[in-house]
Formats: sequence, C-alpha cells, structure tokens
Amino acid sequence: MDTKQQSLLRKLPGVDHVLELWDKTKPVEHVPRAVLVQSIRTTLDRLRTRILAGDELLNETMFGDNQLLNLAAQTVNKSMEFNLKRVINATGVVVHTNLGRSLLPESVARNVAEISSRYSNLEFDLEIGARGSRYSSVADILCEISGAEAAMVVNNNAGAVFLSLETLAKGKEVIVSRGELVEIGGSFRIPEVMARSGARLVEVGTTNRTHMSDYEGAIRDETALLLKVHTSNYSMVGFTAEVPLKDLVALGAKYHLPVMKDLGSGSFVDFSKYGLIKEPTVQETVATGADVVTFSGDKMLGGPQAGIIVGRKDALERIKKNPVNRALRIDKMTLAALEATLHLYRDESKAVSAIPTLRMLTLPPKLIANKAKRLRNRLKKQGDDRLEAVIIDASSRVGGGALPLQELPTRCVGVRIKGFSANRIERIMREAAPPIIGRIENDLFVMDMRTVQDEEIAMIASTFKKILPEE
Ligand SMILES: *Cc1c(COP(=O)(O)O)cnc(C)c1O
Repeated sequence: MDTKQQSLLRKLPGVDHVLELWDKTKPVEHVPRAVLVQSIRTTLDRLRTRILAGDELLNETMFGDNQLLNLAAQTVNKSMEFNLKRVINATGVVVHTNLGRSLLPESVARNVAEISSRYSNLEFDLEIGARGSRYSSVADILCEISGAEAAMVVNNNAGAVFLSLETLAKGKEVIVSRGELVEIGGSFRIPEVMARSGARLVEVGTTNRTHMSDYEGAIRDETALLLKVHTSNYSMVGFTAEVPLKDLVALGAKYHLPVMKDLGSGSFVDFSKYGLIKEPTVQETVATGADVVTFSGDKMLGGPQAGIIVGRKDALERIKKNPVNRALRIDKMTLAALEATLHLYRDESKAVSAIPTLRMLTLPPKLIANKAKRLRNRLKKQGDDRLEAVIIDASSRVGGGALPLQELPTRCVGVRIKGFSANRIERIMREAAPPIIGRIENDLFVMDMRTVQDEEIAMIASTFKKILPEE
C-alpha cells in the first residue's frame, strides 16, 4: 500500500460519523433506520475497496462530509427503489424473455388491477351460488377460439408439458422423434422434463428424418403417448422429413393412443397473412384431432405468462384431476389478464392492433422508419453537436424461441457521442431511469425502433440530453 492509499484510508470515517451527519441534514426523508445504516456501510465499503484496489480516480476531496453524504444518499435512493422496474426495450427482439416477453394491453392491465384489488368469483359459481372451477373464466373462450372440446391453464407452458406427460404417461413410454428433442432457453429440455414426469422417452428416427414406420415400429404395450414437439427455436433445412401431426393422429387412432403436440409459442393468428413465415396456428393444430395441445400465454399470444392446454375432453379431464395440477396452479392476476387478452382475439384485427406483441410483429416498415426519424430529429433538435445520430437499416427478431429464421426489416437509431465510448453510452443508458436497453454495433449505441413505444421516444431523447455534461 502506498502513502496515498494510507492517507485515503485514514480519511475514511466510520459508519457512526456519517450517520450523525445524516441525522443533522436528512438528505432523504422517511428512510427506515436499517436501510440507512446498511446503505452507509455499503457506501463506505465500496470506497474502501476502491482505495485498496488503487483506484486512480479517488482523491481526498471526495471524502468531505458533503461528498460522503451525497454518495450515501445515492445508495439510499437506490435501495428504496423497486428492483423490478419497467425498461425501454430498444433491442428489437419482440418477445424478449429477459425483458418480460409480452406487454399487456392497457385494457388488460386495468382488468388485472381491478380483479386483484377486489374479491372476485375466482372459484365461485355465481349462478348456482356454490364453489366453481378456477378455469371456468377462460375455458369456454379458449374452446371458442381454438375449436377444442376442452381447455385448462397452468402457470406456464413448461408446467403444461410436464403435467400432461405426468398424467398421460407416468411409468410408461412416450414416442418422440429424435429431431424434436429440443432445449428451450437453457433449462427446459424435452428429455429432462420427460424424465422428471416419470415417463420414459423412446426416441425414433434420426436427427434429420423421421418416418411413420419409425413411430409405428416403436409402439408396444408400454406405449402411452405419441408426442410431437414444435422445434421452436431452430429450423432444419435440407434432406429432412417429419411426420405431419394429422398422420400421427391417425396412427394414434389405429392403436388407441393419445397424441400430444407441444406448440411452444402457440398463436391464434396466421402471421403469414402479415408477411411472416407460416407457422401452424392453435386452431389448425387442434383441427388435426390431437388429444392434447400445449402452448405459452406470453409468447406469440401476447398475453400473461401461462401454460394453456386444449384438446379432447377425456384427456383434459384426466389432466385436471392430477393432484400435481395444484402445484402449477394459475393465479387470479394471470387469469384476469388471460381472459381479457383472449376477448381481444374475438376480432382478429382488434387483436393485432391492441396486443403489443402482435402489433410490433406486424408493424409496417413505414411506421418504424417514422419512429426512427422522430427520435433522430429530437436528438438533433437538442442542438449538441457532440452527439451524432444516424438511421440504420437492420433486422429485428421475433424472440421467445419462435420463428428463428424470420427476418423483420427494421430501422434503428445509432448514436455516437464525442468523448464517450460506445460501451460507456451503453452502460449509462442501461442505468438510466427508466433503463434503455440497446446494443453496440460498429462503435455506435444502436436502438431498434420496432420495440420502442411511441411515448418512449421523448424519454430516450431526454436521457441523452441529461448525460451530456454542460460545456
Ligand atoms: C417456450 C417453449 C416451452 C416452455 O414454455 P414456457 O411458457 O416458457 O414455460 C415449451 N416448449 C416449447 C416448444 C417452447 O417453445
């Protein structure tokens, strides 16, 4: 340790000293004592760590009473904030799992607030005045939209898959194509979920090609289920073959075996009408006659996190009765959000314009270009020539492990600031209130305007204004 470090360490006061200063001036009101003491301790610990690390930027003037109080106030303010906060998604990834996947339409969010802050008929049948089913609020409309005989919902699609396998195939065999043994986002892997459910996986076919005869040859007394998994997040091209779901349903009928399809990001809207790659909709999947179809509520559906199970009455009755169901129970806030989202689907054009995920996926390039221009112009108008903003053509992504090959032409705004590295801009934006999440490309901080909401344009511009130091 050199003499500068030693003298800085001597300057560093104890917690009690800063506490005393605080009590005299109270820079932040209404701070619980425990939070205050902890924040002061954290502030001093951080300074000590920086001194010991030989941080060149430290000097004695930073250890004055006012400076220390300021630092402590920053730490206090930080710890009084919520950890979970809204952010501005400028990544262009529409269904961004790390940023909360889907945003609920305002009308849906209002319904969640209303239902969750009041008593409700969550499990009470108002017609007969007795206990009712938790799913009754969404089951009928799910059947109406999907064409299925029966429907239920659980916490998420991973839960829906697990519960279905546990109910229909525990202790027995499930036949799946080798090409469909997928991993979804780190921890959800079909073979592992299968193992946990107590079902035995029987892989058939090869990685790139699976035929009807492969499935049929694997059927035996122990077989309980034929499963197809949508390979959401990857795509096979070239010399490939898979058995269409409707053929597998016919095979199931021949051997009296139920057939299940995990759709992953199920959608009620045929996005090919809007120029996207064709994916089977929930309705088309149900129409094949599959016994069980599972999908997420918050991927391409654009609703709350939920696992939706639709299909044949007998299979669904068994799944509903499984005691494991209780552990995966959907809560009332989710139900309130899901019901309100599903109502929007009664009119497809309304769904596409009102549900943010759908709106962003189908956003006309002209409107994205317009948002980019508005942001660039606002930044220019701020009149600081250290900041340079350019418009860049790029491609957004669907995200959520859906449509991995889909190109979504978009416009981005790239920002460069004299005296700031792109890394530094990225960090400042990420730590702003609200945080702005973009990416770095060719030394520019790049914001994809597809996922930036209209009212966020002004927020981004004012954040840039704030970070530029007065000249
Ligand atoms: C995303 C996905 C899941 C998991 O769904 P969650 O709603 O994230 O639990 C399961 N299967 C497939 C094919 C998926 O794409």
